[in-house]
Amino acid sequence: MKSDRLEGRLAQEFRTIGHMMQIYCKGQCGDVSREQGLCQGCRELLAYAEQKLDRCPYGDTKPTCAKCPIHCYKPEPKEQIRQVMRYAGPRMLLRHPVEAIRHLLDERRPVPEKPPMRANRRRSRPANGS
Ligand SMILES: [Zn+2]
Repeated sequence: MKSDRLEGRLAQEFRTIGHMMQIYCKGQCGDVSREQGLCQGCRELLAYAEQKLDRCPYGDTKPTCAKCPIHCYKPEPKEQIRQVMRYAGPRMLLRHPVEAIRHLLDERRPVPEKPPMRANRRRSRPANGS
């Protein structure tokens, strides 16, 4: 699971999300046809996640999505991703321990005050609350 447009931390996060979605899809989506371990619905969700990462105003200083103060997902995919994380999170430790641990360490990093300025990037609108 590799993105051809993300780099550094964002690419790493994308890989982790891809792995989590493969675990989720295999366990939860039933007997459907898959490409790269993902059914169509999961591929669409992953493409959505890639697009959001690509536009993340934090870029390489991005905190993990769970801690990010910018809520860039729409409610529906946000809920889907939340379920993926809940299902696949604990299972990641068995399947991809290095990635899982790296992600857990990232969770402990402080969230940067605010995103560095990035030219030519559309600003994500911070949603209120939640
Ligand atoms: Zn699926």
